[in-house]
Amino acid sequence: THFGFETVTEAEKRERVAGVFRSVAESYDKMNDLMSFGWHRVWKDHFVAGLNPGFSPLGTPGSDPRSPQHILDIAGGTGDIAFRMLHTAHVVNGNPDVTVTISDINPAMLSVGRQRAQQQLTASQLAATSFVEANAEDLTQTKPLAPDSHSHSTITTTATTIPTTNPPISSSIPDNSVDLYTVAFGIRNFSNIPAALREAYRVLKPGGVFACLEFSKADRYGPVFNTIYKQWSFGAIPLIGQLVAGDRDSYQYLVESIERFPSQGEFRDMIVDAGFVVGGTGYENLTGGVAAIHKGMKP
Ligand code: SAM
Repeated sequence: THFGFETVTEAEKRERVAGVFRSVAESYDKMNDLMSFGWHRVWKDHFVAGLNPGFSPLGTPGSDPRSPQHILDIAGGTGDIAFRMLHTAHVVNGNPDVTVTISDINPAMLSVGRQRAQQQLTASQLAATSFVEANAEDLTQTKPLAPDSHSHSTITTTATTIPTTNPPISSSIPDNSVDLYTVAFGIRNFSNIPAALREAYRVLKPGGVFACLEFSKADRYGPVFNTIYKQWSFGAIPLIGQLVAGDRDSYQYLVESIERFPSQGEFRDMIVDAGFVVGGTGYENLTGGVAAIHKGMKP
């Protein structure tokens, strides 16, 4: 493949993925719409509606339907999932006791997310939101996003942005502390998916839910659809990346990473291997399998 990912180490893959998202952070939201014809919005709405945050504590039937919930949005990027969660919980379900931590390995994506949060969220939603830098494969090392920095280099080169009193302190997301773990269009970028699933299992409370929205294997509509989908992915998306974001390679990587990600059934088996309990097939196909939702509960 273009990046020769089969031969690179985990650390090298992590560095390349970091480069991709540093490079696409500013254009990310616009490109999402272009690449998926806006479908990602429909999938995200459906994902969040299905989880219905703030309505009832997941996995604990019979208890107070308005109890506090803590959501951890992993690879949360520019906040699309987290903002929808907050809207559903606070506005639709009238439960202000739902908090969301947006976690991402990349401070540039988080920084765009924080700017959007300040523009789009209500004061109480903003107060219920936190941003942390963390690798999903090791949630024992997290740090709060530094104020007003777009990247690590800004922190070191721009003296005024260095927080003088409150340096980011690395801390661990505790065991059994999260009600709902979400990851949308993130997990295929991880170098070590089983490690990330183990961490998800560790931080979730018993009864807590792991929920993943990811591109998947679109083989449900037959050969004509497959041909068009492949042409679109491998032909058009890198070209659009080049024209709109001036970055062909990053978008080429994104397409290849979809191709390499396990099938619906294989990924479900990995979730089960990590200790989660799944219902039915363990997944739901969206748009003929172009994307899929996987859910698992920590028993
Ligand atoms: N969840 C958001 C959404 O749906 O719009 C953002 C998805 S974006 C395609 C993927 C994100 O995964 C990027 O922000 C990237 O920095 C993050 N990411 C990649 N590898 C990661 C890792 N090992 N741990 C945490 N985040 C990671």
